[in-house]
Amino acid sequence: MPRPHLRTRSKKRLKVTLPSGRSQIHYEKEIVPTPSCSMCGQQLSGMQHLTPVEIRKLNRSKRRIGRPYGGQLCGKCLKNALKQAARAK
Ligand SMILES: [Zn+2]
Repeated sequence: MPRPHLRTRSKKRLKVTLPSGRSQIHYEKEIVPTPSCSMCGQQLSGMQHLTPVEIRKLNRSKRRIGRPYGGQLCGKCLKNALKQAARAK
């Protein structure tokens, strides 16, 4: 019986044959995309590249960047978007 946290179908399973000939199931670590800007796609600086479980263990200030749209947009895109919004009014 696998350990309780491995009793899930959300982790990928690999059947591995050991040098002794015995086969065993290895559980793959979750692959997380790098945090990137939703407008230009550039990698966000100041954001940690971790799994959702690991992010939950961080301080609130380390989870996101402390400006509006901090975790979604990069600084340049936010600057441009705010300019466009101000000009549209
Ligand atoms: Zn951007």
